[in-house]
Amino acid sequence: MTHGFDTLAIHAGQEPDPRTGAVVVPIYQTSTYKQDGVGGLREGYEYSRSANPTRTALEECLQALEGGQRGLAFASGLAAEDALIRTVCKPGDHVVIPDDAYGGTFRLFAKVAERWGISWTSAKLSDVAAVRAAIRPETKIVWVETPTNPLLGIADIAALAGVAHEGGAKLVVDNTFASPYLQQPLSHGADVVVHSTTKYVGGHSDVVGGALIAADAGLGEELAYHQNAMGAVAGPFDAWLTLRGIKTLAVRMERHSDNAERIAEYLVRHPKVHTVYYPGLPEHPGHEIAAKQMHRFGGMISFRVQGGEQAAVEVCNRATLFTLGESLGGVESLIEHPGRMTHASVAGTSLEVPADLVRLSVGIETVDDLLADLAEALG
Ligand SMILES: *Cc1c(COP(=O)(O)O)cnc(C)c1O
Repeated sequence: MTHGFDTLAIHAGQEPDPRTGAVVVPIYQTSTYKQDGVGGLREGYEYSRSANPTRTALEECLQALEGGQRGLAFASGLAAEDALIRTVCKPGDHVVIPDDAYGGTFRLFAKVAERWGISWTSAKLSDVAAVRAAIRPETKIVWVETPTNPLLGIADIAALAGVAHEGGAKLVVDNTFASPYLQQPLSHGADVVVHSTTKYVGGHSDVVGGALIAADAGLGEELAYHQNAMGAVAGPFDAWLTLRGIKTLAVRMERHSDNAERIAEYLVRHPKVHTVYYPGLPEHPGHEIAAKQMHRFGGMISFRVQGGEQAAVEVCNRATLFTLGESLGGVESLIEHPGRMTHASVAGTSLEVPADLVRLSVGIETVDDLLADLAEALG
């Protein structure tokens, strides 16, 4: 019997402990396991880089939530990406990446993977023909983010999966901004989902982690081989914190979406705001595609203020309930100036963001308090 998402978040991979009945998966803070005679492994556990029961619980839960064949948990989102790139690509291969990729993903391709002979082309993902044109015979991956950071661009996952597969490449979707509750890329034809579980999946700003979920068991096995061979695994405590966060993912994402919808509507009408980027707004260019592939529109909003860079910086500085900080996806609301903070490293490149842009990660506080804080901050 298949269960609903909310049930899977709480139960998948998380049977009560057979020995004690503990309802919550224990933190197996151990590096090694006693063998019952040489090679007599209990349930396959041998050494905690290869496998650890707390991590297994998280991996099975993530696999269930994304509807894949294999889930793998890493020390960070970028560690997961690195393992994926080195599993799928070899020197001479090529990848297509978003022209507004997450900065750390861009850096991984442009400053690290490129030195190992993997070339890349950036393309505007909302333009399917441009992505098709960027694919070459040696292209192994088409890398998708949707929604994107910080401009909340939307890519059509099903259309891009078709284009990638026609070209003999795999479609990878970084699903960090949506979370599996709002969007399940594998069901639209993606081959691998990537997460920074640091964000919505963990949801409490208390742990850094990453994940890969593969649609195909064979690729899942190759990724698991590299996870062990390269070693950037999630530790037991980090896996436990992430799993604890996941239990409330469904209710959190509903509230993030409720609050963000209210705030986006408020900002659209505010005289000091000239552009609002939120895929839930009917005027957003990706709204129809987002409505087709997302359950709701999530908690991330960016907007541009009248008065340029200085005005945007002042809004960030004046907010009090919205905490000035990087990262996103936690229960608490955050505000930041991408141009000087998260996206400072892409200044002068094709990924540069508008100077008057402000990004919000809308939390799950009382929405009237958040609206009052923004009213103050906007002056
Ligand atoms: C944060 C983030 C990452 C990187 O994840 P880390 O856990 O910080 O390594 C990748 N993609 C997106 C969209 C992110 O927001």
